[in-house]
Amino acid sequence: MALTGIQIFKLLPKTNCKECGVPTCLAFAMNLASGKAELDSCPYVSDEAREKLSEASAPPIRPVVVGKGVRKATTGGETVQYRHEKTFYNPTLMAAQIGSDIAAADLESKLKGWNALQFERVGLNLRPELVAVKDVDGNADAFAAAAKQVAETSEFNLILMTEDAEVMKAGVAACAFKRPLMYAATEATADAFGAIAKDNDLPLAIKAESIDGLTALSEKLTGMGLKDLVLDPGSRDPKQSNEDMIAIRRAALKDGNRAVGFPTIALPCEMASNLDTETMLAAMYVAKYGGIVVLSDFAGESLFPLLLERLNIFTDPQRPMTVTEGIYPVNNPDENSRVLVTTNFALTYFIVSGEIEASKVPTWLLIKDSEGLSVLTAWAAGKFAGDDVGMFVKKSGITDKIKHQELVIPGYAAAIVGDVEEELPGWTITVGPREAAHIPGFLRA
Ligand code: SF4
Repeated sequence: MALTGIQIFKLLPKTNCKECGVPTCLAFAMNLASGKAELDSCPYVSDEAREKLSEASAPPIRPVVVGKGVRKATTGGETVQYRHEKTFYNPTLMAAQIGSDIAAADLESKLKGWNALQFERVGLNLRPELVAVKDVDGNADAFAAAAKQVAETSEFNLILMTEDAEVMKAGVAACAFKRPLMYAATEATADAFGAIAKDNDLPLAIKAESIDGLTALSEKLTGMGLKDLVLDPGSRDPKQSNEDMIAIRRAALKDGNRAVGFPTIALPCEMASNLDTETMLAAMYVAKYGGIVVLSDFAGESLFPLLLERLNIFTDPQRPMTVTEGIYPVNNPDENSRVLVTTNFALTYFIVSGEIEASKVPTWLLIKDSEGLSVLTAWAAGKFAGDDVGMFVKKSGITDKIKHQELVIPGYAAAIVGDVEEELPGWTITVGPREAAHIPGFLRA
């Protein structure tokens, strides 16, 4: 059971030295109790106190690592109910399901297609993480063969889905080296599945018909020494499932109920008859509070918006996303290509570079560090002043790449044109469009 702030306070040094970033040990204790601080921030906690505090300082929802290799990912580890309270940490993992009776050639082709679904956005590679192999006929050999093929021939990590312990054993034997998630132990199979998960040190999903049933199952399995659980409350009606997800998060965070302090798994693939509806449900779980979402397939038009939603939800709202200051060539520019400059707010970069790309006009895009502010805000805050922009252009190295002296500044920063001209004598400074949507027309003209 989690400790209260006062109980934590009694274990702290009580020197109020402020090194943890708050004025008093009591304030630090309160933050620790509510998951807003980390124990390591206080360098003076004794080993004895550290041991006692480890439970209190652990995230109320345990982080669970699934998989190995480049697509290894963590789910759970969340500390707040609402993103604006702090941030959400570990993005919802995306899985697509295959049946264990799939032909090897079909699976090869699916994996190839799914592997190609990778999207570059704001300097990040957005892609799904998991393939869920579902036992369709109790054939352990076929199940193991499909799991082995996914594990050995792709970057994807796995969810092994069967209710038969013997089939699960075969699947685990084929791909344990990739740390698959076992799905799912029920009341009837808890002992057998728990033993396999413990012997192989694997994360285990548990499934019950209600949250109460889930709590009992979780207590039983943690009593067996299992730590990495994933919860499926069993509801397949979207409204009930949504309510269950919220109730689980609330019970873990607000009531300190450790029995449900684990990430969840949601299965839109079992709740809808087409990928469009599954995608809508998945979007709901990305927002609230699916740790893992299993779809019946990956398709670009479904996956891409989900990955973008995930990116938006799981970024820190208190820290603007930024891109690195520098020169970004778009559409293979040369020494005669135009030069545009804008701020390093990731969304600004994403929209502006996208519009330039769409114009097909070779262009140099200069990104100036504006502490992640958009153009108008950066200008108003003095982070995109004319002399700064001029100096940045000089030191950026763009003059080595072009043989003209023409620069386009954003329309919203038109007021800085005089200062830029002063800093860049001999240059022609043009005020570009205010709206990014007008950039293609501007460039073509
Ligand atoms: Fe107290 Fe530790 Fe914070 Fe210092 S760093 S104020 S001792 S909690």
